[in-house]
Amino acid sequence: MSSIPTTTTSAAGFFRIPPPPHRIPAAGVRMMAGALQSNASSVGTILTNLQHESATPLPVLRHVADAMTEDMRAGLAVEGGSDLKMILSYVDALPSGNEKGLFYALDLGGTNFRVLRVQLGGKEERVIATESEQVSIPKELMSGTSEQLFDFIANGLATFAEVEGGNFRLPHGRQREVGFTFSFPVMQTSIDSGILMKWTKGFSVSGTAGRDVVACLNEAMERQALDMRVSALVNDTVGALAGARYWDDDVMVAVILGTGTNACYVERTDAIPRLNGTMSASGMTIINTEWGAFSNGIPLTVFDRDMDAASINPGEQIFEKTISGMYLGEIARRVLLKMAEEGDLFGRSFPEKLTTPFILRTPDLCAMQQDNSDDLQAVGSILYNATQVESNLSSRKVALEVCDAIVKRGGRLAGAGIVGILQKMDQDSKGSIYGKQTVVAMDGGLYEHYPQYRGYMQRAVEELLGSEISRNIVIEHSKDGSGIGAALLAATNSKYEH
Ligand code: ADP
Ligand code: MG
Repeated sequence: MSSIPTTTTSAAGFFRIPPPPHRIPAAGVRMMAGALQSNASSVGTILTNLQHESATPLPVLRHVADAMTEDMRAGLAVEGGSDLKMILSYVDALPSGNEKGLFYALDLGGTNFRVLRVQLGGKEERVIATESEQVSIPKELMSGTSEQLFDFIANGLATFAEVEGGNFRLPHGRQREVGFTFSFPVMQTSIDSGILMKWTKGFSVSGTAGRDVVACLNEAMERQALDMRVSALVNDTVGALAGARYWDDDVMVAVILGTGTNACYVERTDAIPRLNGTMSASGMTIINTEWGAFSNGIPLTVFDRDMDAASINPGEQIFEKTISGMYLGEIARRVLLKMAEEGDLFGRSFPEKLTTPFILRTPDLCAMQQDNSDDLQAVGSILYNATQVESNLSSRKVALEVCDAIVKRGGRLAGAGIVGILQKMDQDSKGSIYGKQTVVAMDGGLYEHYPQYRGYMQRAVEELLGSEISRNIVIEHSKDGSGIGAALLAATNSKYEH
């Protein structure tokens, strides 16, 4: 597990004198024809070690699920009691279906920024109309200043709000209200305020940590002369739970698997020792686990350790770094690079581009895994387009094995995490989770687009729960995602009568 020494991968060097400088420095230069012979034994050793060290047999999954349950309890007992922050969401009432009116939502994820408006028509009409837009977050804003980032967001929202018409109607004299989905760890201080604890997912924006992100947004909206009010600050998992619950009362857990990962669930206030007996009117509240920070018992390889050491948050977000979309491609690139350096996977030399961090993306792994052809032509061109390496059939097969090992571990660990949450809830409610239908709402680009990942996750849940209980646990894609959820929570917390 995490304590197993992982230097064994370098045993490949035993077969060769220290590798010569392989890289071709000039950009765009590729290897010469006829150089595609790989050192099969080194490549084989690296692959076998990878598969061995990232393996997640049932006992490992069980350990991870149990550790997740324990860490949840420890985090609920005392502030800072575990890796899991178990953040109070201040969402004590879930959407009822009676919500009416025009509401906006704004979602800052790790890759994309979305704006949405929805016209709600109450129990009968439900969602009358929605409209949304999505833009990717410019790279330079991820490491700029807080003002730059929030100005970009406020500007996007202002532009979107300008073109409101058709089915969307705001009663005269009312201010537009927006639910702000912010998918980074925030210590929530009320339903409409919260302090950013730290940036994750590659963001290192200066001047936001320790500040109220709603105030940051309000100030930027003022600079844009945009007259809107943030009536709910929601984590994306909480938005996803609210959005799914609007349609289905059996939804108890929501999980995001996108650029990053997180999970939240419906908790009873009497099961939160930290609250010292303070009850919500409903007796329940949503807890945002921030499970990306979980680290207990995760099988790690030298590639994970190296990636973590080179990251902007070393030692943090270990679960996120093994299961979420931002990192799977990068772990695979590191393995392929090692195979190229020590085992000539792509011939005697390889392009410099393969040494560029994050050049191979998780959607690339996904696309490669969809190639069922005999010659793996698509795998070859995806590898070439991403990294400029030339491959033959055997190196393409190896690349697929590498993807599979990493994606399998990611999916299976995500499944174990889900069981950890369900098992905590079931133990506390004496069987009311496993004994009836319980829905886990899923959202995020990784879950949505990666069928192999989804399959591994689902099978891990079934292995852990057994076939009988598994029948009661429904894992489903939450159709409207966190966007509508945030708008619904803006409605629930509207300053106007509703
Ligand atoms: P965010 O996490 O920024 O809110 P999404 O939920 O849309 O955004 O997730 C985007 C992430 O999902 C990407 O960074 C990528 O890691 C992953 N992803 C997107 N498309 C695919 C795909 N086709 N295959 C695998 N992963 C994908
Ligand atoms: Mg998101």
